[in-house]
Amino acid sequence: MKRRKFLKTTVVGVSAGTIAAPAIVRAAQTFSWKMTTTWPPQLPFYQVGPGSAEGMAKNIEEMSDGRLKIKVYAAGELVPWNGGFDAVSAGTVEMNHGVAYYWAGKRFAAQYFGTVPFGMSYAGQTAWYYHGGGLELWNEVYEPFNLVAMPCGCTGVQMGGWFRKEMNSLKDFQGLKMRIPGLAGKVYGQIGVNVKLLGGGEIFPALERGVIDAAEWVGPYQDRRLGLHKAAKFYYTSDWHEPSTTSELIVNKAAYNKLPKDLQAIVQAAARDAHVTSYTWAEAYNADALEDLVKNYGVQTRQFPPDVINALRKVTYQTLEEEAKKDPMTRKVHDSFMAFKKKHDVWGNLSEAYFLSIR
Ligand code: CA
Repeated sequence: MKRRKFLKTTVVGVSAGTIAAPAIVRAAQTFSWKMTTTWPPQLPFYQVGPGSAEGMAKNIEEMSDGRLKIKVYAAGELVPWNGGFDAVSAGTVEMNHGVAYYWAGKRFAAQYFGTVPFGMSYAGQTAWYYHGGGLELWNEVYEPFNLVAMPCGCTGVQMGGWFRKEMNSLKDFQGLKMRIPGLAGKVYGQIGVNVKLLGGGEIFPALERGVIDAAEWVGPYQDRRLGLHKAAKFYYTSDWHEPSTTSELIVNKAAYNKLPKDLQAIVQAAARDAHVTSYTWAEAYNADALEDLVKNYGVQTRQFPPDVINALRKVTYQTLEEEAKKDPMTRKVHDSFMAFKKKHDVWGNLSEAYFLSIR
C-alpha cells in the first residue's frame, strides 16, 4: 500500500525528493505517435527498408527502448499523399515523411529544402543544412506552421529521364510531351516543352502508348521498378533539376516539445542516420540497376546537348530570382543557399569534381 502510493505520487511528478524518483518517472513516460508519408505502401527507399520512413521509425523505437513508438501510415491510409503537412501542423498526427518541395505552393522557400535545380549535390546540400544555416532557415520557414523539420534521406543525383527519341538540340524539345512535375516542369515549359502532370502509376502506360514522349521519375532503381525502360530506350543523365532530392521529416512542434531531451536527441539522430543510410543505399542500388538496364535491356545512356543545358540553366536562375523578389522569406533562403553554393562550388570543383574527372 505504501509502495503503491509512492509510485503514484512520483509518476505524476509531485514528489521529486528521492533518488529513485527520476528513474521511475522516466520509465513511465512512453509515447505512441503516428507518422504519415507521401509514399505508396512497400515503396523501397522511401516507405520501407534501410533509411526509409519505416526504417527510421523502427530505429527510434529501438534507440528509445520502446519509449517512443511510431506507427507509419503510407499515403492514403490516414490522409492523402499530400495531406501530411496540414495534418502535422494541426497536430492530428505527430510526424510526416515527404519532400519539402511538395509544400512549395504554401511557401516557395520550401523548394530549397527539397532540391534546387542547378543547385548542389549531396555533399554541398547536406553541408548547407548542417553547417551553413540551411536547417535553421528550414525551421524558420515552417515556424508559422508549428513544425520542426529536418532532413532524413537523399536520393543523390536523379536522372534526366526517359525519352522515346534521341534529343539532339533545343529544337527537339519544342512541343515534346513530357511528364515532369514542380519547378522543373515550369522551367521546361519555358523552353517549349508540353508539360504533363502524371502520378507515378500513370507514367508507364502513358509513355508506352506514346501519350507522352518522355518522363522523369527518380533514378535507375526506382525507374526500373516502374518499367520505364520497357517504354523508352534513351536514358538521359545530365540531371539538372533534382541534384540531391532530400527527404523531409516534419514533427508537430507541441508534440516535439513534450518529449524529454533524450527522446528529442534520438529523433534527431535517427533522422541523420536515415539521411546517410538512404543516400548510400541509393548509390549502391542505382549502380546495380543501371548495370542491369544497360546489359540486359539495351538501355542507352545519353547526355542532354549543351545548348539545352545552357537554356535550362538560364531559365532556372531567372525563375528562382523572380520568386525571390516576390517574398522576403524566399529572398533570405535563396541568398543563403546561393552564397553557400558559390563558395562550395569553388571547393567542390577543386576537390571532388576534379577527382571524379581523373579517376
Ligand atoms: Ca524526380
